[in-house]
Amino acid sequence: MASKISVDLIIKNAGELLTLSSSFKEDSGLGMIQDGAVAIKEGRIFWVGKAGEVSKKFFLDRDSREIDAAGKVVMPGLIDAHTHLIFAGSRENEFEQRIQGLSYQEIEGRGGGILSTVEATRHSSFDELFSLGKRRLDRMLCKGVTTLEAKSGYGLSLRDEMKILKVMKALRESHLIDIVPTFLGAHTFPKEFRENRAHYMGLLIEEMIPQVAQERLAEFCDVFCEEKAFTLEESKKILEAGKRYGLKPKIHADQLSPGGGAELAAEVNACSADHLEYVSQEGINKMAEKRVAAVLLPGASFFLSMKRYPPAREMIERGVAVSLATDLNPGSSMTESLPMMMTMGCTMFKMIPREVIQATTIHAARSMGREKEIGSLDAGKQADLLVLDIPNYRYLPYHFGVDHVEYVIKKGEIAYHRSYFLGRERS
Ligand SMILES: [Zn+2]
Repeated sequence: MASKISVDLIIKNAGELLTLSSSFKEDSGLGMIQDGAVAIKEGRIFWVGKAGEVSKKFFLDRDSREIDAAGKVVMPGLIDAHTHLIFAGSRENEFEQRIQGLSYQEIEGRGGGILSTVEATRHSSFDELFSLGKRRLDRMLCKGVTTLEAKSGYGLSLRDEMKILKVMKALRESHLIDIVPTFLGAHTFPKEFRENRAHYMGLLIEEMIPQVAQERLAEFCDVFCEEKAFTLEESKKILEAGKRYGLKPKIHADQLSPGGGAELAAEVNACSADHLEYVSQEGINKMAEKRVAAVLLPGASFFLSMKRYPPAREMIERGVAVSLATDLNPGSSMTESLPMMMTMGCTMFKMIPREVIQATTIHAARSMGREKEIGSLDAGKQADLLVLDIPNYRYLPYHFGVDHVEYVIKKGEIAYHRSYFLGRERS
């Protein structure tokens, strides 16, 4: 008999172990192993299989740990594929004004809107932004997020965009959550260049993109392609410039009007097209053909009470990899909760529980080019996983607005363990 191997962490007896691996084909589509176990060594998934095999194959030494997940669900860590993590200030006044029926133009007229966040972010120091970002990351980790994509875009000047990206770099080096950085200098035109678009375009293409690339502060270049923001032509120029400097393209596409953003995403071979409320039939076809991932953001539709939703079912049926993300930002989706997005994906976009789990794991990994490293429980991948205190996977989006995360394991280490209410009674 082969000798047993020592590992660092074993999670065993999982009621449902969702591997999301394409090598486990079964009915749920989630690569599920009932009564499953995972063995972790040196921060990586070492083995996945049936709990009954564990004691025959592995042993734990003095520093190793074991988690009994009996009656619980074990799955890959959640991946938030679209956030605007770094900003200062908040816009609860605007939230109240919108409830009372004010339009975005009226809100802007009263000093609100995106430019108020730009002002607040420009006036914040590196340390202030770092501490705001850290608290947001902590909240996300407790909700089960182990990797996220984060965009700059509230600086809109060389100095302030660099400041935001450097804050992200410092967070990336210190926080347990992995951060995939995106340059979004083309978020909107700053107020000093609203009458001189060409000048800001020059600044983006000739100064900001080269410097961001030179200092290796971003992996992706994103643009808000919309009638009121960057035109199709401007968006293309920016994304092509990003590509010349090694930044992979992403696009905020077709959110408020049908603008050909999805078609452009396919044309420039973008990794993802995001939002897509008004995506055209042609756009969906081209995304499927060029394997552009879709990142849908139900939080923004919900928070802004938008009636128009992206055609998620159609995209799934056409074979587009659909992911869901929070779009965390102070104007249109002020939340760190990816589990809430899963419930909204079901109720608003008519995705089924299996699909919203794929959308926040393996598909989200694909939307940021990380599918070989994270997003499923395959031997060799990074050991990012969750133990959820729920009886089955459908229960996760079903019982919404509460926390089901019991453990978060990041690179093989226990990063979070839920502390329990002590249940003291009245004396
Ligand atoms: Zn966004």
